[in-house]
Amino acid sequence: MRAFAYHQPNEISEAVKLLTSVEDCKVLGGGMTLIPTLKQRLAAPAAVVDLAKLPALKGISDDGVTVTIGAMTPHAVVAASPIVQARIPALAHLASEIGDPAVRNRGTLGGSVANNDPAADYPAAVLGLGATIITSAREIAADRFFVGLFETALEPGEIITAIRFPVPVAAGYAKFKAPASRYALVGVFVARFADGVRVAVTGAGAGVFRVAAMEQALSQSFEPTSIASIKIDAAGLTSDIHAEADYRAHLVTVMAKRAVTAASR
Ligand SMILES: Cc1cc2nc3c(=O)[nH]c(=O)nc-3n(C[C@H](O)[C@H](O)[C@H](O)COP(=O)(O)OP(=O)(O)OC[C@H]3O[C@@H](n4cnc5c(N)ncnc54)[C@H](O)[C@@H]3O)c2cc1C
Repeated sequence: MRAFAYHQPNEISEAVKLLTSVEDCKVLGGGMTLIPTLKQRLAAPAAVVDLAKLPALKGISDDGVTVTIGAMTPHAVVAASPIVQARIPALAHLASEIGDPAVRNRGTLGGSVANNDPAADYPAAVLGLGATIITSAREIAADRFFVGLFETALEPGEIITAIRFPVPVAAGYAKFKAPASRYALVGVFVARFADGVRVAVTGAGAGVFRVAAMEQALSQSFEPTSIASIKIDAAGLTSDIHAEADYRAHLVTVMAKRAVTAASR
C-alpha cells in the first residue's frame, strides 16, 4: 500500500469539498473492496475520504410507500432490520447472503452499489425494485444508474447518501453462489408491483440487466411456470473459470423461477 492522506469529515458538504478540491481523492465506505485494492497497489490515490463519521448516511426509515436506507448501512444491519424484514423481506434475505460475516459487518449498501461489481447482489435489488439512488447532488433512477462493468452514472466527487426502495406487493431473490466468495454466479431479483413485474439479473453478464420477456410473462401470471420456457441468449454473457455463458444463461431461468417461488411464499 502506498501512503495517502486520510480525511474523516463530519458533514457531507465537507466530504464533497475534499473530493472536488483535493486531486486524486477516493471515497472510503466499508473498505471491503477499496482496501484490498490499495494493498495490492491496483489503486494508489493521494487521499482517502472516509464516510464513517457522517450521520446522514446511516439509518433505515419507512414512509409507508418506500423504505430508505442510508448508504453507510452495513449489509448485516440491512439483513437484521425489522423494517426491511417486514416491508421488503427479499432485500433482507439478499443482504444476509452477501459474502461472510466479516464482509457483512463492514461492507455497505452505498459501497456495493457505487462499486457495481457485475456479480454483486445489491444491484439486482436496486434495479429489480426500481429504486432511486440519492446522492450528494441529485436523485438517479436505477434504470439510468448502472452504466457498465464497474461503471455507474456517478460523477467525480458525487457521493451516494441513501437508496430509496419502493415497497413491492411481493419480491424474491435467488442466487447461485460462487462457492468460495459467495458472489453471484447468477442472481435474479423479481419484484411484483400493482402495475407490473420487474426482473433483474446479476452475475450473468458485464452488469445487472432486466429481462423484458420474463417481466411480461409474470405480469400476466405470477407463477414459475410462466417463465419456464423463456430462454436467455448466451451471447454477451460472461464465460470465466467459474462457468460458461451457456450455463449462466440456463441458470437465469432456473434462478428466476426460484425467485418467483420465494416471492409467492
Ligand atoms: C471476501 C469477499 C466476499 C464478498 N462477497 C460478496 C457477495 O457475495 N455479494 C456481494 O454483493 N458483494 C460481496 N462482496 C463485496 C462487499 O459486499 C462490499 O459491498 C463491497 O466490497 C463494497 O462495499 P464497501 O462498503 O466495502 O465499499 P468500499 O470498498 O469502501 O468502496 C468500494 C468503491 O465504492 C466507492 N464508494 C464507497 N462508498 C461510496 C458512497 N457512499 N458513494 C460513492 N462511492 C462510494 C469507493 O470509492 C470505491 O470505489 C465481497 C467482498 C469480499 C472482500
